[in-house]
Amino acid sequence: MSLGQIVVEVILATGETGIGVGGGGKSGIHVIDSVLSECLVDSDKETPHQFHKVMCDHTSFYGRKGVVPMAISGVDLAIWDAYGKNVGKSVYELLTDAPPPTVLPMYQTVFDDAEAELAVRDGKQAVKLHVERFGDRPQPEAIGDLVRATRDRLGDGKAIMLDAFGRWNVETTLAVAHEIKQYDVDWIEEPVRPDQLDDYTSLNRESPIPIAGGEHEYLEEGFLDLAERKAVSIFQPDINWCGGLTSLIQIYRIAEDAGIRVVPHRGSEPYSLPAIAALDRKQPLAESARSWFDCLNGMAQVTPAGVEFSLSPGFGVSLKS
Ligand SMILES: [Mg+2]
Repeated sequence: MSLGQIVVEVILATGETGIGVGGGGKSGIHVIDSVLSECLVDSDKETPHQFHKVMCDHTSFYGRKGVVPMAISGVDLAIWDAYGKNVGKSVYELLTDAPPPTVLPMYQTVFDDAEAELAVRDGKQAVKLHVERFGDRPQPEAIGDLVRATRDRLGDGKAIMLDAFGRWNVETTLAVAHEIKQYDVDWIEEPVRPDQLDDYTSLNRESPIPIAGGEHEYLEEGFLDLAERKAVSIFQPDINWCGGLTSLIQIYRIAEDAGIRVVPHRGSEPYSLPAIAALDRKQPLAESARSWFDCLNGMAQVTPAGVEFSLSPGFGVSLKS
């Protein structure tokens, strides 16, 4: 499958099966086959949290970021799926007793102002402009023209965000931020590479527009580090990469303690939606799904009112045949 997605199936001792999706491609599969499976099979652990801790402890000397947490994500999600099916509850119901919202608000990632207008007409609450094509050192005025044209088409009341894809530097980011601050932009996402944490801290302190990141951060420890450094104002964990649902629950807790908003990467896909619905009662927002996430039945239904999510047991997904 594209972008290194891997599908993971687990079978509980009860015989219940679960399906998860992780990352890391063939390397991720190797990590599961050669390392993770040996610490799970015949384990005396019972809950998803316990299994997750076993996997993280077992790999902590070499696998705190990247491929290993991406593989753990797939296993963790499969375990949650099986666990929900085993007790006859949706993942949403495993996370909260509160009545579920009917739909969640969505934002669409778009490339220009015309696409932005279409997305809002389709019911999206917000749009994110992808600006990688402007290069590593874009003219602030060029980005400003795009954001102004988008704001002109959308009017007030719909949020606009920007994704720089980790390609700028501090100087460029601040120049762009000052150029576009008049157009009411909610965040600038991944302005620099994920490991340039000192730059994130400077930008998050100095930029007139909030800084978002975490799409390429991993596990509780990685997000705790971001919070302690005050590196970003919005966390964007990817549930299929960051360590799975168990890590995402921990990330929401860290965010709440630090006053950070959480808007999961590609949150309109079936694994993130129950967490957003259950764990964010203040400002939930689900990013549009990716076309390359195409291996499952049970994708969420997008309506003009928002995205619906499954209350079927587990994540409500099955493998396409
Ligand atoms: Mg992004």
